[in-house]
Amino acid sequence: MSTIFKKIINREIPADIVYEDDVCMAFKDVSPQAPVHVLVIPKKEIVSLANAEDDDKELLGHLLLTVKKLAAELGLDEGYRTIINTGEGGGQTVFHLHIHLMGGRSLTWPPG
Ligand code: AMP
Repeated sequence: MSTIFKKIINREIPADIVYEDDVCMAFKDVSPQAPVHVLVIPKKEIVSLANAEDDDKELLGHLLLTVKKLAAELGLDEGYRTIINTGEGGGQTVFHLHIHLMGGRSLTWPPG
């Protein structure tokens, strides 16, 4: 079953898209937890990191390098946090793999 993120990829619902290429898309989180809070997602439907396969190696690398480039473009020079929630126990609520990119404020550790 399609998730809300698949609907964003298909332009069936709106999103504040900040980056897109053949492989991935990045858009602003609708409920930002930091001044910059962007989600980077593959266009391929992968439920979670736990569902990624060896064949996804290049795709996963592409996602991380996209995060790095976006962080620079978005001015996160002081640092930033990347989060991948995996499974219900990991806090995942949308079951389409995504990387949270957060920054623009001082981020404490550990998270809740
Ligand atoms: P997670 O809890 O790791 O699965 O993260 C899902 C994230 O998706 C949450 O931070 C939500 O605020 C965000 N989210 C849910 N629906 C939308 C939407 N339509 N547009 C942008 N972000 C969304």
